[in-house]
Amino acid sequence: MSYSTKFSKDLLTWFDRHGRLNLPWQRSSDPYPVWVSEIMLQQTQVSTVIPFFEKFMATFPHLEDLANASLDEVLHLWTGLGYYARARNLHKTAQSIINDQQGIFPSNQESLIQLPGIGRSTAGAIAAISFHQQAAILDGNVKRVLSRCFAVPGWPGKKTVTDQLWQLAEVNTPSERVADYTQAIMDLGATICKKTSPACDSCPFQKSCIALQTATIDQYPGRKPKTARPTRSTCMLIIRNTKGAILLQRRTNEGLWGGLFSFPECREDELSAQLSALPGSTNYLAPFKHSFTHYDLLIQPILIELQGPIRQSQESETCWVSQFGKDKIGLTKPATQLLANLL
Ligand code: SF4
Repeated sequence: MSYSTKFSKDLLTWFDRHGRLNLPWQRSSDPYPVWVSEIMLQQTQVSTVIPFFEKFMATFPHLEDLANASLDEVLHLWTGLGYYARARNLHKTAQSIINDQQGIFPSNQESLIQLPGIGRSTAGAIAAISFHQQAAILDGNVKRVLSRCFAVPGWPGKKTVTDQLWQLAEVNTPSERVADYTQAIMDLGATICKKTSPACDSCPFQKSCIALQTATIDQYPGRKPKTARPTRSTCMLIIRNTKGAILLQRRTNEGLWGGLFSFPECREDELSAQLSALPGSTNYLAPFKHSFTHYDLLIQPILIELQGPIRQSQESETCWVSQFGKDKIGLTKPATQLLANLL
């Protein structure tokens, strides 16, 4: 038997004694269940995946069944598993293999990567487990094992670090028993080299693992650098006419609030020019923060009580509202809050 490295030899010796052999997707090396399980296992633990996998395979036992199902049926079975793009991609890929590739599953990593939702590591796992090709994997568990064993510094999300880990993954993937090796390294990461409190006493690498030998396990893998959450700011102009109606403006279709109605907005450095075109009194209301996923928006609302007519923008759709909730229009959340207080 030829192993590519001592690492793969030690891992396979451990796997023969301690590897998990009874997982439901290990009953066959058919690429269809292997693929479904690999997609379900992305960002999800084995114990969570097992009941979903069993139900999915009972409903769609063959690739054709999945391809012929409606997307609603697939999403229904995925409910509770999260990351629904995975289910949409599974469905799309099943249809593509049945309709465009005569129902034949691609058998190498390069062709597998071309399919929707299959990245390099998932492609490697299918190629290794189902087609016994010498293809490496690098999921979260494998990144942790390799970065600790070989003391690879830096956050694995960084390209230079990922490249180094891929190199190690490839060097250590054997040409023989590649399916067992692939299962073994995933098992080791999931059951022994865990994120917190790894069971180093039971690990086949306890003599060679650099992180253990140098008592630096907590430094590997490197943490994602903290980035300050950006804050943007805007001034919202709440323009109220002499009849008590407030002006709203439809936002362009792009962006997070695309197509919704809100107050006219401007930057702080544009404010005096904007206000000079609005005859009336101005009153600065209490500023507040609105949080989006990637940034905070600091909003300065300014109430303008008009004392005369204004020239309205021809570039955007506007409307005057005088009763809260009467008009059937979509409103941004800050606009809803401010209107509820003012009308
Ligand atoms: S010795 Fe400990 S830290 Fe090193 S690979 Fe094994 S379990 Fe992980």
